Amino acid sequence: MKKKASIVIPIFNEEKGIVNFLDNQLFPALEKLSLETEVILVDDGSSDRTLERVRKTKIFLKSSTKLVAFSRNFGKELALSAGMHEATGDAVVLIDADGQHPVSAIFQMIEKWREGAQVVTAVSSDKQTRHRLGSKLFSILMKGLGNKNYNPRAMDFRLVDRVVVDEFNKLTERTRLTRGLIDWLGFKQEYIEVKISRRGAGKASYSRKKLAALAVDALASSSRTPLLIFGYIGAFITLCSGALGLFILVQQYILGDPLGLEWAGAVAMSVFVAFLVGLVLISQAITALYVSQIQIEAKNRPLYVIDPKKSKGLR
Ligand code: UDP
Ligand code: MG
Repeated sequence: MKKKASIVIPIFNEEKGIVNFLDNQLFPALEKLSLETEVILVDDGSSDRTLERVRKTKIFLKSSTKLVAFSRNFGKELALSAGMHEATGDAVVLIDADGQHPVSAIFQMIEKWREGAQVVTAVSSDKQTRHRLGSKLFSILMKGLGNKNYNPRAMDFRLVDRVVVDEFNKLTERTRLTRGLIDWLGFKQEYIEVKISRRGAGKASYSRKKLAALAVDALASSSRTPLLIFGYIGAFITLCSGALGLFILVQQYILGDPLGLEWAGAVAMSVFVAFLVGLVLISQAITALYVSQIQIEAKNRPLYVIDPKKSKGLR
């Protein structure tokens, strides 16, 4: 049986460049692919003339093309999820509509997939990203918080095998970063280097503020280290001030200041206050642990993910 590839394209206010992308870049590329293709256009609540233009393209008029139109803007991550839900292909390719992801890379992705890769991720060959400082900080934090595999140049321009898409579609968490979830699922990953072009037309709609919010969400949902840092600080304060307090108690009040330090009562008082502050921080971290347990349960991720290709004899 001939295999099928689905191309999922999130689109938000791309009236300037969308026709060029769909008809002059994607269409000829799909014609050249030696497998059946299906295009899933996801309009993420565009408020300009994007939809009107999309409806007139050659891609749109193909019988295999689907259009998912959101009632309002829900954001790219959810547009990608909707596209993956609708896709029926044996492989699903996620690609931006602004022409930044080179369609020629799809050929390489399909090749890697045929060789057995289950996720093929495009990695930008260009070290400079749009928000350089921000993404650097983000990747330092991500890595520091225990996401060792986080690759700052990996994009969500990806090919994902049907097996992985099915697992992805089972995930129910609401705050989601598509590439983070795909990475979490595992499976056989391959990388290809691509050169990211300048945006074809229009403006990037992810503002610094939106990106920062996305980054905070990604950090918070991927690690509980931030919750615990203050607990560690608290434990440190309590230990130090406890030891110092004990020293003052014995030296000054029990032995009657044999060292002749003549510390005022205020010193003992401040050490006592620091001790209490440390206790408060520790108890907050304990609460945070319970909160993070609730967060983990609420995400309700599958307990494990099975790779059917490697397994045998399951029911
Ligand atoms: N996009 C979307 N919803 C949004 C913002 C963007 O579907 O709320 C689409 C957009 O049309 C494009 C892709 O997501 O196809 C990437 O958007 P953008 O170029 O703004 O982001 P960047 O290239 O900076 O990651
Ligand atoms: Mg872009």
